[in-house]
Amino acid sequence: MSGRRIAVLGAGIMGSSVAIELARRGFDVTLIDREVAPMAATSRWNEGKIHLGYLYGADATLATARHILPGSLLFADRARELIGGDLDGHTTTADDVYLVHRESVAPPDALRVRFGAISELIRQHPDAARYLVDVSDARTTELSPSELDALSGADIVAGFRVPERSIDTRWFADRLAGAVAAESDVTLQLGTTVVAAEPRNGVDGRWRVRGADGYDDEFDLVVNALWGGRLPIDVTAGLSPEPPWTHRYRNCVFVRTRTEQSLPSALVAVGPFGDVKNYNGRDFYLSWYPVGLVAEGAELELAAPATPTGAEAEAFVGRVRAALQPVMPGIGAVLDDAESVVVHGGFVFARGAGALDDPHSGLHRRDRYGVERHGAYYSVDTGKYSTAPWLARELADELAG
Ligand SMILES: Cc1cc2nc3c(=O)[nH]c(=O)nc-3n(C[C@H](O)[C@H](O)[C@H](O)COP(=O)(O)OP(=O)(O)OC[C@H]3O[C@@H](n4cnc5c(N)ncnc54)[C@H](O)[C@@H]3O)c2cc1C
Repeated sequence: MSGRRIAVLGAGIMGSSVAIELARRGFDVTLIDREVAPMAATSRWNEGKIHLGYLYGADATLATARHILPGSLLFADRARELIGGDLDGHTTTADDVYLVHRESVAPPDALRVRFGAISELIRQHPDAARYLVDVSDARTTELSPSELDALSGADIVAGFRVPERSIDTRWFADRLAGAVAAESDVTLQLGTTVVAAEPRNGVDGRWRVRGADGYDDEFDLVVNALWGGRLPIDVTAGLSPEPPWTHRYRNCVFVRTRTEQSLPSALVAVGPFGDVKNYNGRDFYLSWYPVGLVAEGAELELAAPATPTGAEAEAFVGRVRAALQPVMPGIGAVLDDAESVVVHGGFVFARGAGALDDPHSGLHRRDRYGVERHGAYYSVDTGKYSTAPWLARELADELAG
C-alpha cells in the first residue's frame, strides 16, 4: 500500500477515523475539510449515545438494533486504539432512563416487548462484554411508580432503565483531532470546501478532487465522509443518490455546572421529544426536538443555519427549559447552577422521510447506512456516531486489501 495517495473528504468522526486507520496501513492520506480544525462540526456537537438499539423502539422489525449493535459494541475498543488512551471519566457510568411520553409513537406495552427482544439480541452477541460496560447480561428494568414520580412530570406514563452509555463528544473531539495531527502520513488540508470529485480515466482509475479556493489534486482513491455535504459531491462523482432522504439541523444546549449534580441521564421516548445527558456530574447535554430542529429538507444539501449567540442563545435555552422542565423537573437545578452554557448544533442525515410523530415514518429506522462503492470512489453514510470508528476500521481493512 505504501505511497498510494488517498483523499479523505470530511474530518468528522468518520473521516478522521478513516484517515488514521489508512495512515497506519501505509497510505499517504490527505484529509480535507472546510473547517479550520478536524472534529469541529456535528461530531463535536452531539449527544454521544453509543446506541444499543433501544432508541429505535418504534422499529418493530428490530432491523435497526441488528444494524447498530456490531459497531456500537466495539466503539470503546476502536476509540481507544484511535486516540491511544482510555475513555475513563468521559463516559456516563449509570444506565440511561427512557421515560415514555403519553404521546409516544410506541406505547409502553410494545416497548416492553421490543426492549426485551433487543436485550436478548445484545446478550447473544459475541462482543457484548466489550461495550463501554459489560452488557453480556443486558436487561431493562421498569421504574416503579414512585421512581417515576420522583423523576418526571405528568405526561410520562412509564419508565425503563436500559444499559446504554454515552461519551462526552467535546472531550473525544479534542482527543481524536490530536490523534489525527500526530499521524505523520496524514496531511491536513483545512479551510477548503470540496466542490467536486471526478474520475480522470474511468471510475477505477485516478480521481481529481477540486475545492472552492482553487484546490485541485489527484488521488488513487477517494473516501467521501462529508455527512451533510456528501450528496452533491456524490453527484459530481457520477452517483445518483436514491431518495427518500432527510437532512435536519438540530441545535442543543451544552452546560457545565459549578457543583456536582445527580440528575440521571434520561430521554423522553418515542417521538419528537428531548433528553438530558449527565456525562460526569458537571457536564450536561440538553435537547428538546421541536425547539432545536431549526432546518429540515430533502434537497441535496441543507445550508447550516447560523449558530445563535448572545440574547438569541439565551432565548433558545429558555425555550428548551420551558419544554423540558414539565417532563424532567430536575433540569431546573442544572441550569440554575450553570457555570457555562453553549448552544450549538449539527446535521442529521437519514434515509427516510416524514416526521417523528408519525409511527410509520422512515426516520424511526436506521438500518441502511454504510459504504457505497463506485470504482476507486467510496461514499460513506456515517449513520450514527456510535458505529463510526468501527465502520472506519472495516473500510480501511477493505481498502488495504
Ligand atoms: C443533535 C444531535 C444529536 C446526535 N446524537 C447522537 C447520538 O447520541 N449518538 C449517535 O450515534 N449519533 C448521534 N448523532 C449523529 C452523529 O452526530 C453523526 O452521525 C456523526 O457525528 C456524523 O459524523 P461525520 O463524521 O459523518 O460528520 P461530521 O462530524 O459533520 O463531519 C463531516 C465534515 O465534513 C465537512 N464538510 C461538509 N461538507 C464539506 C465540503 N463540501 N467541503 C469540505 N468539508 C465539508 C464538515 O465541516 C465536517 O467537518 C446526533 C446528531 C445531532 C445533530
